[in-house]
Amino acid sequence: MEEIRKIGVLTSGGDAPGMNAAIRAVVRTGIYHGLEVFGIKRGYQGMIEGDIIPLATQDVSGIIQRGGTIIQTARCKEFHQYEGRKKAYDQLMKFDIDAVIVIGGDGSFTGASIMSKEFDIPFIGIPGTIDNDLYGTDYTIGYDTATNTVVEAVDKIRDTASSHGRIFFVEVMGREAGFLALRSGIACGAEGILVPEEKKQLDKLRKYMAERAAKKKSSIIIVAEGDEEGGAIGIAKRIKEEFPELSIRTTILGHIQRGGSPSALDRINASRMGSAAVEALLDDQKSIMIGLVNNEIVHVPLNKTVKMDKDVDRNLLRLAEVLI
Ligand code: ADP
Repeated sequence: MEEIRKIGVLTSGGDAPGMNAAIRAVVRTGIYHGLEVFGIKRGYQGMIEGDIIPLATQDVSGIIQRGGTIIQTARCKEFHQYEGRKKAYDQLMKFDIDAVIVIGGDGSFTGASIMSKEFDIPFIGIPGTIDNDLYGTDYTIGYDTATNTVVEAVDKIRDTASSHGRIFFVEVMGREAGFLALRSGIACGAEGILVPEEKKQLDKLRKYMAERAAKKKSSIIIVAEGDEEGGAIGIAKRIKEEFPELSIRTTILGHIQRGGSPSALDRINASRMGSAAVEALLDDQKSIMIGLVNNEIVHVPLNKTVKMDKDVDRNLLRLAEVLI
């Protein structure tokens, strides 16, 4: 394998708090090892267009505490086609970039895996998504911050819920994954947690409403947006029809879950994974994702992480039921 001298870093797909900490770690670790580092702006779109800038140590100063991504992110349809990826490759060659570090989710890694094979160029993935739905890592960047954001918001909702004796259905992000709903639900002491990974949850919810809801000062039901029963609005409507005597409200937390200053855990995880990604490249690795398992850095083949599904923690689901 040829020696790696210049590397590119990009953020792609959904943004997540802590991405900046990862960019900073990539840049500074790269420079520490004598590499030149380039920021590829707006994900694969910027790669295709050659929107590529050099990043020096001072360019990543003062960003570790900022949410979002300083090099921006995008969704790029053209990258789905070979012609688009060929244009992207030509731009990498124009800038003499030998390898790319992609901070993103499942979709971004699928694109990286395909392009890596087609053009024999090393791609290293760093998991960045608030959904935590990537196989091969316990944590993705942004998941912990988003959990804290949900907890802070739901604590406030709890105050008004208990003052009025209401039941709140709170919808959190997670179209296909219930990690955020489950972890934040446990932390908020939610009376119900509905996640896409679990079936027949409505029966349990009905039982709770019939037997216990009226006796509680307030109830918080956390619903992942992708829940098979149809999100918080749909479920709240059905429960209201069946239990018209209950005072029910619905809140959709929406995009506040993606923003904000990253938690200390996200900053540290992002710093570790960013640095490990550069070191993996120097170690001749290609087409892998950096993960954290039992608090240790691991390397997972990119095609494995995109093919395999990660299940929610069944022990946490059971715990939620016990603690209600
Ligand atoms: P995430 O990485 O957060 O899952 P997306 O699924 O939107 O976000 O993917 C981000 C980008 O990755 C897409 O806009 C596209 O450019 C690229 N991508 C996703 N899937 C593929 C694919 N099957 N082939 C090539 N590129 C892909």
